[in-house]
Amino acid sequence: MIPVQAIPAKLAGKKPAQWKQELAEAIENPAELLRFVGLMDDADRLEQAVSAQSLFKLRVTKSFAGRMQYGNAHDPLLLQVLPLGEEHQQTEGFSADPVGDLHAQKQPGLLHKYHGRVLLIATGSCAINCRYCFRREYPYSEASATQSQWRQSLDYIAADDSISEVILSGGDPLMLSDKRLDKLISHLEGISHLKCLRIHSRLPVVLPSRITDTLVQRLSSSRLQAVMVIHCNHAQELDQEVATALNKLKLGHITCLNQAVLLKGINNSLSALAGLSERLFEMGVLPYYLHLLDKVKGAAHFDVPEQQALQLMRQLQAQLPGYLVPKLVREIAGQPNKTPVFGGSE
Ligand SMILES: *Cc1c(COP(=O)(O)O)cnc(C)c1O
Ligand code: SF4
Repeated sequence: MIPVQAIPAKLAGKKPAQWKQELAEAIENPAELLRFVGLMDDADRLEQAVSAQSLFKLRVTKSFAGRMQYGNAHDPLLLQVLPLGEEHQQTEGFSADPVGDLHAQKQPGLLHKYHGRVLLIATGSCAINCRYCFRREYPYSEASATQSQWRQSLDYIAADDSISEVILSGGDPLMLSDKRLDKLISHLEGISHLKCLRIHSRLPVVLPSRITDTLVQRLSSSRLQAVMVIHCNHAQELDQEVATALNKLKLGHITCLNQAVLLKGINNSLSALAGLSERLFEMGVLPYYLHLLDKVKGAAHFDVPEQQALQLMRQLQAQLPGYLVPKLVREIAGQPNKTPVFGGSE
C-alpha cells in the first residue's frame, strides 16, 4: 500500500486507462484460469499447466478468456494459452531460433531481412502468451529496443533510402502507451523516404480496449499510410467488443489485415478456416497470411503436416471467394521473403 501523500500530484485522481487496468488483471495463474473456464476439477490439467508454465509463463487477458466456452477442455482459445505437458517433449527439428532472427538483427531490436521493409521490435512484452509462439525461446527482453536504442534504429533507417516501410512488432508494439507510440511515430514521420507504417499486433483481438480514440486519431492523421495486421486464429476470438475496436480502425481509414497460424487442434479444419475468413470479413478485415508453425522447441504438438495444410488450402479455395483465401507461408531463414507454400507464386 502506498500512503496517499506519496502519490505524485500528477497521478493523484487520474484513473489509469481502462486497457492498462485490464492488463494488470490478466490471468497468470493456471488454477485461476481453470477456475475461470469451469475446469477447476481437472487435477491432471492443473498439474500439467503448473509444470509447463516453468518453460514459458501463462498469461491471458480476461477479455480473451471470457470468449472461451465454459467447461470445454478442448476449447480452441483455451488451447492457445494453457500450458500442457507436451511442451516438455524434445522433437527433432524444433529449435530455439527457427526463423534465424538472431542473425537478421542489424541493431538491437531491428530486423532487416526483406527489401524495403524493416521490423522494429518495439517492446518484448505481450498481453497474452501464445504457447506456439517462437518468442517462447527468443530472448526478446534483451533484443527489444529500449528507448535509447530507438535512436540507433532510427539512424539506421534514415541512412538507407531503400526502406519505405517500418513494421512495429514485438512482442506487441501496442503494449507501449499512446504517448510513447506518438513519440516513436513522430520520429519515423521525420524520415522522408518512409511511406508506410505497419503495426503487427494481437491486442485488437486480445485486449480490444487498447484501441483508444487517441491511438486511432494518431494513426489516421499520420502522413505515413497506416496498416494494422492483427493476429487471430479462430472465429470465436472475434466477439462484439473486438468488432467495435476494429470498426474504429476502419472509420479511421486504417487498412486491417489478419495473420493466423495453422495450429493442430485449433484451426486445422475447413470449417474453422472458412469461418475465420468470413468472420474477419464481416469485421472489415482481410485475411493476409496463414503461417505454417515456426518449429520452436515445445510447440511440436501444434504442428500440421504440410500435406494436410495444402489439402486444406485447396478445399478453402474451392469454397471461398479469392479475397478470403489467405496465403499459406513458411518462414525459411535466409530467404528474401516469406516463402509461399500455396496461394503465392510457388
Ligand atoms: C514477416 C516479416 C516482414 C514482413 O513481410 P511481409 O511479407 O511484407 O508481410 C518484414 N520483416 C521481417 C523480419 C519479417 O519477419
Ligand atoms: S508475439 Fe504474438 S504470438 Fe507471440 S505471444 Fe505475443 S501475441 Fe502471442
